[in-house]
Amino acid sequence: MPTQPETQQPHILQNSVVVFSRNYLPLTRINIKRAIVLLVTGQAESLHFGTSKQWEVRSPSIILQVSEHISLTTANPQRHWQVPPVNRREVLKRDKHTCQYCGSSKRLTLDHVIPRCQGGQHRWDNVVTACERCNQIKGDRLPHEAGMILKNQPKAPIHPAVIFAEQFWNAQQTSE
Ligand SMILES: [Zn+2]
Repeated sequence: MPTQPETQQPHILQNSVVVFSRNYLPLTRINIKRAIVLLVTGQAESLHFGTSKQWEVRSPSIILQVSEHISLTTANPQRHWQVPPVNRREVLKRDKHTCQYCGSSKRLTLDHVIPRCQGGQHRWDNVVTACERCNQIKGDRLPHEAGMILKNQPKAPIHPAVIFAEQFWNAQQTSE
């Protein structure tokens, strides 16, 4: 890399960096400024794949080689992959804040598809977003007993990090 006399390198700071977990699972893409913070504080280190680009970032006090691929050194990568808990916030997010029976976005509650009193569990595949009205109509019945149809079959959400990892590897394959 040619020597850059200036300390401000705005073109470099426009780059982004892919963050990997300690076991090399691509997690997310972050701005190079955030990557620099992680590197300087020892929370990440540069990775050198054959194709990794590298940038030299200079400040008055340090010269840092920043690779376009870095891996976390300290954070527990598990938390990036865990399925979120089944709670109101996460279920509404999965269901895009709409009642899974009528599509309403008002007065939302959680409904157990198989009612708890019939042995239904508090799990991703048995909890859906339902508006108060649908929840009341359905009561302690199964959807078909109440003449109701689910818009989507409930299942655990795919974590954004998993989606990102798939997109990352697909992009690597197509660029080769
Ligand atoms: Zn509804």
